Amino acid sequence: MIDAPGVAPHDVPPIGRYTPAPASDRLRRKVPFITAWSGEVRAQPRLVWRGDRIGFANERPRDRDAFGVLWRRAANKPGQGKPLFGKTHAGRQRRAMGGLLCQVCGTPTRPEATNDGVLFLLSRTDYEWQPWPAPIKITHPPVCIRCVPVSVSACPHLRDDYVGIRCRAPRLYGVNGVMHMPRSGTVPIPDATHPIGTMPFADTRIGLIHAAQLVVKLDHYTLVDFASELSAPARRTGHSRR
Ligand SMILES: [Zn+2]
Repeated sequence: MIDAPGVAPHDVPPIGRYTPAPASDRLRRKVPFITAWSGEVRAQPRLVWRGDRIGFANERPRDRDAFGVLWRRAANKPGQGKPLFGKTHAGRQRRAMGGLLCQVCGTPTRPEATNDGVLFLLSRTDYEWQPWPAPIKITHPPVCIRCVPVSVSACPHLRDDYVGIRCRAPRLYGVNGVMHMPRSGTVPIPDATHPIGTMPFADTRIGLIHAAQLVVKLDHYTLVDFASELSAPARRTGHSRR
């Protein structure tokens, strides 16, 4: 682990430079748990107003979460049709993020966490937009270390460069989805200025978003040196930046 408070993150060598050992053909063909399949795509029901919140015309209780947020509908049929790499399945993304399941194999990541917590991958661009120590809001669920090669080869946003981050206490933050204008007419109208956005659960406008992804916030985290971590997989480091 890198233990260098005060060092500019872009000066830390391992960030985004590590290339995992080539994945086997079998591994390359593996489709991540959260990847959507063409056979799961469904037309969304018509949107209507439910008080000041958006809702479905044929709404069911399970269309909303515990915060009352309306979620995108999708059939849960992984393996049907073709994998849509780069598109996430709303239901499995939500399950993986909420339960800290690996985005690739779908198993819990807590059991293999180091003292620095569970592992998340971020594209270099996303990371450098607001680098350490700024908190990170992330829609990509964690990943177990053995699934890193699959994740970086299957996810288009990670193919160029990426950053590994470990966090002990990922915090449920809000949702990402299609934003709508406050009620004015007879039907909800998407917000043309901010069509896709992230909104915290605490925001009073949360009822205006049609959610597609759960967002977790990483307040305190440690940057991962993949080379040393993979060369000593049983090592449990006590170093943390916070
Ligand atoms: Zn995994």
